[in-house]
Amino acid sequence: MQILDGKALAKKIEENVTNEVAKLKAETDLTPGLAVILVGQDPASQAYVNMKKKACDRVGFYSVTHEMPQDISQDAIENTITMMNQNPNIDGILVQLPLPPQIDTTKILELVDPAKDVDGFHPYNVGRLVTNLDGFVPCTPLGVMELLSEYNIDVKGKNCCVVGASNIVGKPMAALLLNADATVEVCHIFTDDLKKHTLNADIILVGVGVINLIKEDMVKDGAIIVDIGINRADNGKLVGDVDFANVSPKCSYITPVPGGVGPMTIAMLLSNTLKAAKLNAQKKR
Ligand code: NAD
Repeated sequence: MQILDGKALAKKIEENVTNEVAKLKAETDLTPGLAVILVGQDPASQAYVNMKKKACDRVGFYSVTHEMPQDISQDAIENTITMMNQNPNIDGILVQLPLPPQIDTTKILELVDPAKDVDGFHPYNVGRLVTNLDGFVPCTPLGVMELLSEYNIDVKGKNCCVVGASNIVGKPMAALLLNADATVEVCHIFTDDLKKHTLNADIILVGVGVINLIKEDMVKDGAIIVDIGINRADNGKLVGDVDFANVSPKCSYITPVPGGVGPMTIAMLLSNTLKAAKLNAQKKR
């Protein structure tokens, strides 16, 4: 069994982004800029935004966080996004989800300029992903593809079972795998007999948010396991959706939690923002 080390690859990608940022600054005098919109006091959202900000600082991006109270109005968020859309110093806009119930999240995500949509959540970019055209791809599934590629794991023709079908994880994961010529099954809360599907898979990619959902009897020998889940166990430790201790001996490769997909998500946010900055730099010339 070999560990798919997301932490190590993320570090490599960060170094590469740092060099590219220095080059961009030297050639164009432009610094990539990321604006983050954070609503409310949710500790997990605050922690994620903090990690993203620190990563931006490390690679030399300009970043700004717009912190807003939980009872913020739709108009106030929309006004901020419109301002960020027009701000030439901002290349990427990220709206930390979830937003409070009074907010129409779809309307907010649709307002982000698709050229600054570094999270890849705008329906324009979703459409480009599904039709296998270049655009911005959601960071978590993009990070998974990078991680598989780093270990020379070619998904072409492989049976891939994606467990979890959200717009930010499961669906874009399935689209990327399909674009890479995998045979893809997508399972979710209403899937009957999950084990029947996972047992058939060469690669299982699970992003659900249920501790120990994937157990050893659900995995065939030699399978590759990508654990996208992030959960807080009773003892306070971060764990994924896979029973790592019992499943890992059966696998050929597996991602740890933490240190697998999580760091790759941040690395892909950096590389998406750099991509946006380069495209915007071309427009400014
Ligand atoms: P979500 O709640 O939006 O979606 C969960 C999905 O899992 C749904 O499609 C649901 O049908 C499915 N599901 C729920 N229970 C199930 C079950 N028992 N069996 C099969 N399917 C089931 O969640 P999300 O935002 O997609 O996040 C999923 C997990 O991924 C969470 O643990 C989250 O913390 C994690 N996550 C990790 C990263 C990262 O960087 N590693 C990024 C985003 C989300």
